[in-house]
Amino acid sequence: MSRPEIENLVIVGSGPAGYTAAIYAARANLNPLLITGFQDGGIPGGQLMTTTHVENFPGFPDGILGPELMDRMKAQAERWGTTLVLADATEIDLSQRPFQIKADGITHLAQSVILATGASANRLGLPQEERFWSRGISACAICDGATPQFRNQAVAVVGGGDSACEEAVYLTKYGDHVHLIVRSGQLRASKAMADRVLANPAITVHWQRQLVDCSGGDWLEAITLSDTQSGTTEELAVKGLFYAIGHTPNTRLVQGQLEVDSHGYLVTQPGRPETSIEGVFAAGDVADAEWRQGITAAGSGCQAALAAERWLSHHNLAVEVKRQALEPQTVGEPKHTAESDEANYNADALWQKGSYALRKLYHDSDKPLLVVYTSPTCGPCHVLKPQLKRVLEELDGAAQGVEIDIEADQAIAQQAGVTGTPTVQLFFRKELKEQFKGVKQRSAFKAAIESLLPVSV
Ligand code: NDP
Repeated sequence: MSRPEIENLVIVGSGPAGYTAAIYAARANLNPLLITGFQDGGIPGGQLMTTTHVENFPGFPDGILGPELMDRMKAQAERWGTTLVLADATEIDLSQRPFQIKADGITHLAQSVILATGASANRLGLPQEERFWSRGISACAICDGATPQFRNQAVAVVGGGDSACEEAVYLTKYGDHVHLIVRSGQLRASKAMADRVLANPAITVHWQRQLVDCSGGDWLEAITLSDTQSGTTEELAVKGLFYAIGHTPNTRLVQGQLEVDSHGYLVTQPGRPETSIEGVFAAGDVADAEWRQGITAAGSGCQAALAAERWLSHHNLAVEVKRQALEPQTVGEPKHTAESDEANYNADALWQKGSYALRKLYHDSDKPLLVVYTSPTCGPCHVLKPQLKRVLEELDGAAQGVEIDIEADQAIAQQAGVTGTPTVQLFFRKELKEQFKGVKQRSAFKAAIESLLPVSV
């Protein structure tokens, strides 16, 4: 569908705040455009994409996987008519009206903007951090603390602020002992919070200790601490390591244009989504240094959309679209690719799943073959799979794809030397041509496949 010359509303960010704003704005017939982000400041879907079970989001009594929750929000936003741009916003110019937002090389003009770019949890950058991220290391104890791997195990929290103290106390509900690693000789947290930590026999505070690395097998098993005074190091056996060393709001694109507080968070009117520029609203963690929960972000996304709608109609700027159907088609439950076996294997299918299809295609197909190694809780895999499928569709059957769940097909993953998900391997005539780790741009996969195809004249 062609877009209007000037958008009513552009939403930047695709966490719970962005998608909730989109759902409300779309239902208000504002035809919103949502720029999801891609690699800048995290991955599309936001921080919940890198958590496992979300058990505190109302409506899911048995909990829901973070990536699945985000898939559902996305589907709901699209169902009501949100247009998604799967790319990073690269420039935002709020100095003129309509506002200008550039993404994927295209400049979008907008009467109003909702910034929902989130905040990225700070990381320590330990040498082995990537390896154990979501395999013991997490940036959110509240989100991940109750996962089975941490139950009755020793875990560690690093940081000395309110978050670290709150998380340490929270984790004593699940872990058998909590080690709080503090780089200085004091807690920065409020007195009440610090007292709670110091009085809790299940928490040991390790003062003046810096984390230098971590180790383990498939899952985290130990951390190495260095004494900031003497420089001596020691190992501590833990199954969990939670970072609570502050967050950095993703405000780079509006730097110098909007008022921010001393920590870089967007300043809004107290309890409201209006920023220092009329028509520009903020929602979620980018303007919230304190609550930072999926549900609070969703709530503020709703506020921002309602405020934008009021503002647009007050200034007579909204161009409402007429809905084609009063009730858009239902989305239904998420569809999962069935595992291929002898009965349903299709030599010509663009996308299949499992070791049977991999073996057959590897031996029989003369087309480039993309093998994506995923795991059920891997958020970035959720982001990558549709991208890969789109590449294959664009190539019109010239290449094929297979998805391998490394939990279900451990032997294959091991044989392929896969150490993390997502990993993509590109094969051609039984030869490994290229390997990609993590989420990459669609164009990278397309170019790699095209380099293997005969040049058309
Ligand atoms: P803070 O910025 O307050 O604290 C960050 C902590 O991490 C500090 O102790 C800091 O150490 C430590 N730190 C930073 N970098 C490193 C590093 N590289 N290595 C080791 N330690 C490091 O962040 P919080 O997330 O704790 O709090 C943010 C805001 O939210 C605060 O205003 C807080 O009061 C509020 N909050 C309130 C809560 C409540 O009232 N229930 C709960 C949670 C947060 P150092 O002290 O040495 O600088």
